[in-house]
Formats: sequence, C-alpha cells, structure tokens
Amino acid sequence: MTDCQFCDIANRRTKAQIIYESDLALAFLDHRPVSKGHSLVISKAHFDNLYDIEFKPLLEVFRVAKIVSVALNKVFNPYGINLMQNNGMHAGQTVFHFHVHIIPRYDSEYVKVLEEAAMKRFVTNDSFLEADARKIRSAMKG
Ligand code: 5GP
Ligand code: ZN
Repeated sequence: MTDCQFCDIANRRTKAQIIYESDLALAFLDHRPVSKGHSLVISKAHFDNLYDIEFKPLLEVFRVAKIVSVALNKVFNPYGINLMQNNGMHAGQTVFHFHVHIIPRYDSEYVKVLEEAAMKRFVTNDSFLEADARKIRSAMKG
C-alpha cells in the first residue's frame, strides 16, 4: 500500500472494477457512485491535480474519458453525462491523484441544482471582466 488510493489501484494493490486501460490512463467504477455507471479516469502516474499533471497523460485521460462516456451512453442510455474534475479541497477534491469523474444523469435532479446555482451568479460588467481578463492573459505569457 502507498499513501495514495489511486496509485494503489493503478498498481493493482487495491481492487477496483476496471473498465478500460491504456499505457497512461486507467478507468474504473467509483466505489460510492453518484449514479449508475459513475466512473473515474485517472493518470497511471501520480499527479496531485490539474496544476501539476503533464500534457501527455492529461490528454490521454480525456481521450479515455470520451471512450468511457460513449460506452456508458450506449449501455445505460442516460439523459446526459457530466465530466467533473476537482482541484483542491475547496473544490471538492478528496483524493489527491488527478482524476476525472464521468457521471451519467438519469433524472432532472441535477438540472435543479444548476438552476439554484444560476440564481446565485454574480452580476458583473465589462470593465471588471476586462480587468480580470488582462490579469489572466498576462499570467499565461512566457
Ligand atoms: P474527488 O472528491 O477527489 O473528486 O473524488 C474522489 C472519488 O473517488 C470519490 O467519488 C470516491 O467515491 C472515489 N474513491 C475514493 N477511494 C476509492 C477507491 O478506493 N476505489 C474506488 N473505486 N473509488 C474511490
Ligand atoms: Zn497517486
């Protein structure tokens, strides 16, 4: 055992219901699913989150996420599927090994959650957005 649950799954030290595997990524069923078919795709190598993952494994995780999503759509025929990816405790990350959730939706519950969240959105204006955009653009330079 290591101190990372998902490294243990990638190394086959912990059992998981693996559904797809490639050289850099692994997909398996979440052990406490939000809905039927709730799956996780991880990089086989350990990266804490989106901030430190390298581009090659990142792209592979999303390639596998598409393959798994198409399969889930075919097998379970959900109303829709969300991809979710949490970074940091305050964003809901509990396992600090990069992963993407694939969550099939079978009812309108999540639409209600989105409607409630929409009520709490900020009203802003162009000059605030412009100032933020300027900071973000300059952070990405060089
Ligand atoms: P997070 O909250 O970090 O975005 O999501 C972590 C997810 O991993 C949770 O949905 C949780 O149920 C799942 N999970 C945590 N430990 C294990 C495990 O040992 N096996 C499996 N299959 N899923 C796990
Ligand atoms: Zn790990």
